[in-house]
Amino acid sequence: MSIKHTPLPFAPDSLEPYISKQTVELHHGKHHKGYVDKLNKLIDGTPLQDKPLEEIILDTADDIDRENIFNNAAQAWNHTVYWHSLAPKGGGKPNGPLLARLEKDFGGFDKFRKAFMDKAVGCFGSGWAWLVENGGRLKVLSTSNAVPPIVFGQKVLLTFDVWEHAYYLDYQNRRAEYVEAFFDHLVNWNFAAQQTDSSPAEALRAVG
Ligand code: MN
Repeated sequence: MSIKHTPLPFAPDSLEPYISKQTVELHHGKHHKGYVDKLNKLIDGTPLQDKPLEEIILDTADDIDRENIFNNAAQAWNHTVYWHSLAPKGGGKPNGPLLARLEKDFGGFDKFRKAFMDKAVGCFGSGWAWLVENGGRLKVLSTSNAVPPIVFGQKVLLTFDVWEHAYYLDYQNRRAEYVEAFFDHLVNWNFAAQQTDSSPAEALRAVG
């Protein structure tokens, strides 16, 4: 068994004009695939080779001797969540219960949007912005490099990749414009709502 490079859930040109076909093809076909291929080489012939991706991540987190495995496993997982966090003709506001929860936990949808934008735009260097559920409350956070919030026991509802490879061809250094395009046109709120309805274990497996 090896870790699969999950296919894109949409056509590579379907996020245009907000994320170009060229960016999606490079990002999925080179960067994401590169993490998966490297991970499979690193775990081949080791006790990790038959484990699900989430277990490999949790098993190697905080283990400096296996940092390379952790980084590649986490990036393989993060990118799968990222592709599912995007949808052609997405964005705007979610419906029903998720909107009510965002309004309650952030004091309004616009405050949530600003909090997420601040985390995504303000993330120093390479990293990720996340919407998570923690102790029954929704929170936003950013993490550096490869770290996914599942290592802190938090359930992930959405992620957004703010590594430069995700946006540089389309936006150069204008990260804020890329984050605004995500919010207004690309957020896959159906995916986020599905994640809130699943148990933490189901949520982990949902995208694997
Ligand atoms: Mn990426």
